[in-house]
Amino acid sequence: MDQTGVEAQTTKSPWGSAAPPAPTCSLTDVMSEQLAKQLDEENNAFADLTDPTADLLRSDEVSDTTSDLMLAQMLQMQFDREYDDQLRREEKKFNGDSKVSISFENYRKVHPYEDSDSSEDEVDWQDTRHDPYKADKPQTTPRRGFTGKGKNITTKHDEVACGRKNTARMDNFAPEVHVGDGLGMDLKLSNQVFNSLKQHCYSEQRRSARLHEKKEHSTAEQAVDPRTRLLMYKMVNAGTLDHINGCISTGKESVVFHANGGSLEEELVPDEVVLKVFKTTLNEFKNRDRYIKDDYRFKERYSKLNPRKIIRLWAEKEMHNLSRMKKAGIPCPDVVLLKKHILVMSFIGKDHVPAPKLKDVSLSSDDMKDAFYQVLQLMQLLYQECNLVHADLSEYNMLWHQGKVWLIDVSQSVEPTHPHGLEFLFRDCRNVSTFFQKRGVSEALSVYDLFNAVSGLNIPVGAEEEAEFIAEIVALEKRNEDHVQRLGRKTFAVSSEDCGPPLQPDVDD
Ligand code: ADP
Ligand code: MG
Repeated sequence: MDQTGVEAQTTKSPWGSAAPPAPTCSLTDVMSEQLAKQLDEENNAFADLTDPTADLLRSDEVSDTTSDLMLAQMLQMQFDREYDDQLRREEKKFNGDSKVSISFENYRKVHPYEDSDSSEDEVDWQDTRHDPYKADKPQTTPRRGFTGKGKNITTKHDEVACGRKNTARMDNFAPEVHVGDGLGMDLKLSNQVFNSLKQHCYSEQRRSARLHEKKEHSTAEQAVDPRTRLLMYKMVNAGTLDHINGCISTGKESVVFHANGGSLEEELVPDEVVLKVFKTTLNEFKNRDRYIKDDYRFKERYSKLNPRKIIRLWAEKEMHNLSRMKKAGIPCPDVVLLKKHILVMSFIGKDHVPAPKLKDVSLSSDDMKDAFYQVLQLMQLLYQECNLVHADLSEYNMLWHQGKVWLIDVSQSVEPTHPHGLEFLFRDCRNVSTFFQKRGVSEALSVYDLFNAVSGLNIPVGAEEEAEFIAEIVALEKRNEDHVQRLGRKTFAVSSEDCGPPLQPDVDD
């Protein structure tokens, strides 16, 4: 169809003259007009439904109902009301005079709030300070023990009052105890029920406290306390250590960590070191008092120190002893640094693997024999050159590394003139002798011979072996102690050269 054809159609109608064109109107006008009309219609239709209880229920009065919807709603409401009435009757019949009643409230069709025609009755309790679920404060009975007068006296033993009081008391249970929503109801707990609930709560609390405690202790066993961690961190921060790796051992008195050395005052720290952290939990050290309290080198200072500082003294003692041993050429760790209760020393082992303890290593019989002679020599050096008794020498504190026996763990080592020094030496000798004999070293000396070989003392070994031998040792210790008392040992210096009363019997005794 061409353009001229269309033109002709619009201008010339075959049914007569065309109607004058309608005045132009915008689309928005049309739309808003339609919307207004629609709203108006809706309003008219539901005008009576806005208040169902007030208007709909006047169904008898309204004879002319034009809307089907309204009619249906009116009928439904009427039906619901009848249903609820029936329910109420049944509820009454069911409950009768019984004290315990059952409510059919939830089965009702017309709920109370639908009945109420305004929201004014509803309390938005979240906006108020009143918490409807909180139990009312129980009424307190005055001092005289009752309220009311004459027949209406209520004593504090009143069952209902007591029950309510008990319910309110549940509020005091620990937060983790779930008391349910009993607090919000008018629940009455008998004394018996309340007491067993209380008992249960207490025992639960104690149980969980015990569990918690156990957990705390177990972590304390493994790790170090925050102060120590800070000290260790500072060592890394200062560059003394490069990196602190894992824990090698957790003993009763110390925790030993492996670390990579950095540099200290421009000197290189060995690539592999250990940090021996003396435990700051003091109870273990109580048993070890006598190793340090009676050590002449530390006696003076010991009495003035608080327990925390005494632990530092242990670390210091180990450092001094190691230095002495090093001087005498005994294979032992090199001291790198002492920081409070942390002793940094060289690592005996290689590539993060610590050298095995003598108790764990399996050696050929030749090597075992060799190890015995090494230990004998080390003990002699320790006693005669370093003027020390290890005091905890056993297969647990000797490491086997590069075909040599290394001595470690010398924090408790004392000088032979310590009031119990010789007894400690005897114990060391017994450990060593027993170990090598058990490992089949036939050359291993007996405890007595070993003691005499190390100390250079010639204590006779009689028929009553041990008892006599120890009695002799104790007598010797006593003589030394007297000697010390006479000379006023307090003024003596710390160094090993000038130390000590003779361990041989005094000529002037
Ligand atoms: P404790 O007093 O707890 O027995 P030790 O000094 O004996 O402390 O160390 C405990 C364990 O740590 C040792 O048995 C040994 O395995 C390891 N250890 C200690 N010092 C070193 C070290 N310098 N090199 C390698 N391992 C070490
Ligand atoms: Mg040890």
